[in-house]
Amino acid sequence: MYKFYTDSMLGKLARFLRFLGYDTLYRSKESIDEMLEESFQSKRILISQSQKVILLSEKKKTQSIHLTSTDISSQLQEIRESLGLSIIFPPETMRCSVCNGNLSFKEKQELLDRIPEGTAKHYDEFWECDSCAKIFWLGSHWEDIKRVIEEIK
Ligand SMILES: [Zn+2]
Repeated sequence: MYKFYTDSMLGKLARFLRFLGYDTLYRSKESIDEMLEESFQSKRILISQSQKVILLSEKKKTQSIHLTSTDISSQLQEIRESLGLSIIFPPETMRCSVCNGNLSFKEKQELLDRIPEGTAKHYDEFWECDSCAKIFWLGSHWEDIKRVIEEIK
């Protein structure tokens, strides 16, 4: 499975790749050198919209993808075409959009004291991040993701 490193301009893309189950590193503040070094060391594919970053990554022999689109569906499409990536939502294992940790399915009963009452009433499927303990459920956010994914097909 591919692992990614999205450059600091691509926070939204990082969140989507994580929802799609891809291990994706993203830091909001990082120099180009740090970005190149970290993606090289962790064998990640560096994704950037900057021609300069891509040229430098080629010099360093780090695999990279140069994105030209600005909207999220087209960006995912570019990545899919470049790698022959499968885009399936929901994937077998999702990752936390905040910290890239693995999400585990949870019984609602286990989380009742940590989710808002209205949410507990309306939803039955919950996931918790193994790393930062953030809780996710099939809310409106889920529909937004599905819409973006459908636009790709
Ligand atoms: Zn997390």
